[in-house]
Amino acid sequence: ATNKLRQAFARSGSVHLFNRAKAVFPDGTTRVTVERDPFPTYARRGEGAYLVDVDGNRFLDLNNNFTTLIHGHGFAPVSEVVVGLLNSGTCFANPTEHEIGLAELLTARIPAMERVRFVNSGTEAVMFAIKAARAFTGRPAIARIEGAYHGAYDWAEAGQSVSPGNSGWDQFPVAIPAYRGAPQSVIDDVHLLRFNDADGLERRLSAVRDRVACVLIDPMPSRAGLMSPDPAFVAALSETATKYGILIVADEVLNLRQGYAGASARYGLKPDLITAGKIIGGGFPIGAIGGREEVMRVFGAEDVRPLLPQGGTFSANPISMAAGRVAMEALTPEVFDRLEAMGNRVRDGLRASIVRRDAPLSVTGAASLFRIHPTRIAPTEYRDAYLRAEGAGLMRRLSRHFLESGILLPYAAAACLSTAMVDSDIERVLSAFDDFLNTEIQ
Ligand code: PLP
Repeated sequence: ATNKLRQAFARSGSVHLFNRAKAVFPDGTTRVTVERDPFPTYARRGEGAYLVDVDGNRFLDLNNNFTTLIHGHGFAPVSEVVVGLLNSGTCFANPTEHEIGLAELLTARIPAMERVRFVNSGTEAVMFAIKAARAFTGRPAIARIEGAYHGAYDWAEAGQSVSPGNSGWDQFPVAIPAYRGAPQSVIDDVHLLRFNDADGLERRLSAVRDRVACVLIDPMPSRAGLMSPDPAFVAALSETATKYGILIVADEVLNLRQGYAGASARYGLKPDLITAGKIIGGGFPIGAIGGREEVMRVFGAEDVRPLLPQGGTFSANPISMAAGRVAMEALTPEVFDRLEAMGNRVRDGLRASIVRRDAPLSVTGAASLFRIHPTRIAPTEYRDAYLRAEGAGLMRRLSRHFLESGILLPYAAAACLSTAMVDSDIERVLSAFDDFLNTEIQ
């Protein structure tokens, strides 16, 4: 069948750069998360909802730097404030007013963030949240959701790569090392829970209650499937955690973009600690650890020496702080409503195509996030969403089809919308998808 949307396009610039990169980076890239099929698309610049590559091709960007750019590329209010700051110093050992401004904004909006500390990445935020939970409880271990992604701190990453081929796939999943040589002591102190499994949660946590400092949970874990938390699971989590004196750490590095007050507030989860990143830096490196005042005192208080030292050369640098504040200020409740409405249009439109074409696919997500799955029934936990070879092949073909239709669609991760997108962009996504089903699915 002919395909009106797909285009032949030049790619020699990307091929050339990849060849150069292979001589200096271990696998030709500096991030394992860079997508390649078979080579990466090298970016030259961003323009609102669009990314222009080094060959001059324009793509609607549904990746937005892994969901960071909620306003798309080159958001003018952020550019203005950053350009204004560049000539007056970009980092100081001294604190600045900018960090207070961003902290005031976040603590005013996010109920679980009574106090906050800034770092440079989501990985660091999760690391310090885990350490804070340990310092507060005096316990070393953590529990976390199998298959979920929380960055690269050893304890946070053990358990993300469970698969049917390894021992983690037992009824009671066990963490497996995230990389060869990972200390066994790390694995011993990571206990896996299945998302939306309220019964398993109680059984699992009761067995290790005296050792576990916190349950680390993303309210809608993207890598594990981007599925909604079952209210019964949220209730069981809170009840069990309270019973055993275990803290709840909500990792909202990605999902803070689900609403004005974030994702925990949206799903009725009441965390003791909460992590943020991505959108709160307005496109610059950032991470934040927030939480109840009582727990955050582990970082120190006027009358208390810190139990947990936390610094960081670039933490709270004025560029990230000022950019983040401007980006967040532009996210009013009305803007979140618009993002939600656009997200609904995308998810409903994709599902309508799936039904019309009777395709073996499904869609998950909420607010400005969505993910397409190669399964007829939408996943409710990681085991349903785990990509087996056949499904992975289909998702790769889908992602390739989108690329050739001028759209960057992350494969096996959350896709997202930005405030820079307009109706015609949404239409474009839906027609590219319907076109894929029409031509590729028998
Ligand atoms: N936690 C979650 C839920 C994430 O999605 C990510 C990144 O994708 C991280 C933590 C790590 O953040 P960073 O890449 O900024 O270190």
